Amino acid sequence: MRRELTQCVERKVDELVSLTQDLIAFPTINPPGEAYRPCAEFIGRRLKKRGFSVEYIRGESAPGDTDRYPRINVVCRYEGRGPGPCIHFNSHIDVVEVGYGWSVDPFAGVIKDGKIFGRGACDMKGGLAASIIAAETLIECFPEFCGAIEISGTVDEESGGLGGVAYLAKRGYFSKPKVDHVIIPEPLHKDQVCLGHRGVWWSEIETRGSIAHGSMPFLGDSAIRHMGAFLSALEDDLYPALGNRHTQMPVIPPGARSSTLNINSLHGGQDEGHDGLPSPCVADSCRIILDRRFLIEEPLDKVKGEIVEILENLRKTRPNFKYELKDLLEVLPVMTDKNSPVAQAVAGGIRDVLQKDAAYVVSPGTYDQKHITRLGHLHDCIAYGPGKLEMAHRPDEFVGIEDLVDSAKVMALAAYSLLCEPEAQPLRKQSDHVHS
Ligand SMILES: [Zn+2]
Repeated sequence: MRRELTQCVERKVDELVSLTQDLIAFPTINPPGEAYRPCAEFIGRRLKKRGFSVEYIRGESAPGDTDRYPRINVVCRYEGRGPGPCIHFNSHIDVVEVGYGWSVDPFAGVIKDGKIFGRGACDMKGGLAASIIAAETLIECFPEFCGAIEISGTVDEESGGLGGVAYLAKRGYFSKPKVDHVIIPEPLHKDQVCLGHRGVWWSEIETRGSIAHGSMPFLGDSAIRHMGAFLSALEDDLYPALGNRHTQMPVIPPGARSSTLNINSLHGGQDEGHDGLPSPCVADSCRIILDRRFLIEEPLDKVKGEIVEILENLRKTRPNFKYELKDLLEVLPVMTDKNSPVAQAVAGGIRDVLQKDAAYVVSPGTYDQKHITRLGHLHDCIAYGPGKLEMAHRPDEFVGIEDLVDSAKVMALAAYSLLCEPEAQPLRKQSDHVHS
């Protein structure tokens, strides 16, 4: 039976390729959230023809939702012949800006050397196309299956997912009993099961000073020099400490198995970008944005606490040091148990199709799994898709056609084992998540 299913997928290579090209042709750039409606409707129309019920849900009043740029999500569901579990394939339809350096039209779906090129080819319209073909093939080959298959195309993943998966998860679209298992075809590659992601804390720190004439800086107080003192404390103390912290999470690439901190931006003093010369002033404000990625072993209050401690030390030891700290974003780490049903079903597919054991990995950055776990309280969720992570957001982004086909086979087999052979799933302890 499993062999029959992969052979059916094999016969649909051309369809899979042209579906990927069709999806790439929608310039769903976010921000601002271009072409969401036509892309969602394209998916909905296709699946409606194949017997899915189709629902469009607008992320009303989510960040960026306007009549010009409505946040349109599509959720499609196919009911099998009888009751049973539901497997849901969730893909985001938004892509990031094009950027410079392309040698092909980023929305033409150009095919060259066995690859399909385009913005979103890898992240993640190739994965979306593979999941659609996988689901359609299973329905055609085994129309008798029990349970349900869902496919969603959701918006705004690249900007936090508030109008997309978070909006839907708050309304029960990613919870039992509606959904039991979720696969997110993000580009983690065809031989890897991605169990989750590290945590994120973004903050903005502003130091304050006092403005004065630049020729007599001793009359003022430089906010930039105060920030300099904070930055050197980061260099001297925090960066070495972070580099020494290692996680049990199998994060890829291995460099991300430590805690990391990026300084996203730094600005002090007058605005830049004016024509003409600046005027001589001591800066009375300096701001930085910190992007801290943390490990499942690190509690968020400790992550925040160590920044506060540096700032408080400076306040006590450095004359006139004043600061303000603002939280911008926090996401806790998530990691599904590798013995969970969906992870094992995908690993079984990888074994069949690629004749190798799946690697279990964790993503360095976050994706929509956080909302499914935290808001939907559904823990049987992983990421699995054909693209290569290194190609995401790059010029000349591509997805390999052979990778597309292999991953569609793996997804079809995973769905088959979750829906049609649940007895083959060994009994497992309910330990399918971590950390809160
Ligand atoms: Zn993505």
